[in-house]
Amino acid sequence: MSYHEVFLLKKCPLCDSERTKPVKFEKNEFGSGVHEDVESFTGTWVTLLKCQDCSFAFSKEIPSDPDFFTKRYQFNFDPGFEYNANYKSSILVQTFKLIEKYQPSKGKLLDLGSFGGNLMKFASEHGYEAEGVEVNKNMAEHCSKTLNMVVHNTKVQDFEGHAGEYDVITLIDVLEHLFEPRGVIEAASKLLKPGGVLVIKVPHYGPQHFKQNIANFFGISNRGIFHNFGHINLFSSRSLSKVISKCGLEPLECIVAESEMWGSDSLKFKLKNIIRTVVHTALEIFRKITGLNLGLNITIIAKKN
Ligand SMILES: [Zn+2]
Repeated sequence: MSYHEVFLLKKCPLCDSERTKPVKFEKNEFGSGVHEDVESFTGTWVTLLKCQDCSFAFSKEIPSDPDFFTKRYQFNFDPGFEYNANYKSSILVQTFKLIEKYQPSKGKLLDLGSFGGNLMKFASEHGYEAEGVEVNKNMAEHCSKTLNMVVHNTKVQDFEGHAGEYDVITLIDVLEHLFEPRGVIEAASKLLKPGGVLVIKVPHYGPQHFKQNIANFFGISNRGIFHNFGHINLFSSRSLSKVISKCGLEPLECIVAESEMWGSDSLKFKLKNIIRTVVHTALEIFRKITGLNLGLNITIIAKKN
């Protein structure tokens, strides 16, 4: 097998519809520092297909190597930085406010894609018994050994023997990266107790595509929407609600997600973060009035009945 061999998705991986339409083509450009099997995809093309039935958008070409995505995420991240990073603070506050609205009794939480343990730390500090599942070995080991957290270094589909064990499961900024997103939601659904909740945060296809086109047009960014097999799944509130219902969960609410707040104390970053907050507040008010979610990122909560 050549390393950049792919198989082609012929139908929507969320709803199985065969009514799909190509909406964008992008070339992969991996820089140095990635695994050589991943780097071999440099110069290959990917097609963004959009499902005409559920509006899910996804990469038609999927690497045949079953370990491709594990290799894709084996960067040398600094676990200490990720554990203490505060760029997702407002996302965490918003996520837990949403969880406590629908699941006030707290209990046992599982963070899928727990990475540096940032969410688990927040959950523990707020009265949850938190565990994680993480495919990045370095991150999982750091959390388990150095921070004494329970982190399972595996894929969620292989995380067996824990059915019906959790009150809360979180999938924050994870599903856009994974092949077989429906399989992950199905696995999460099985792991939940009846009455438990699943929270998913993902980039929102329509507004993200629009933002990227504007940035490309004005030369602000030449980055594509797939970002080198980084974002292979692009959701909408409709496609998420549909797949969640198929997996035996009841969607409760889909809100405009808070943004990551990057940067230092410099005026430029402060200004950017003020703009992000104002835009988020305006879009969330708009959603509450009209029911239309136009956020660049969306967070959905669903319950297992
Ligand atoms: Zn579909």
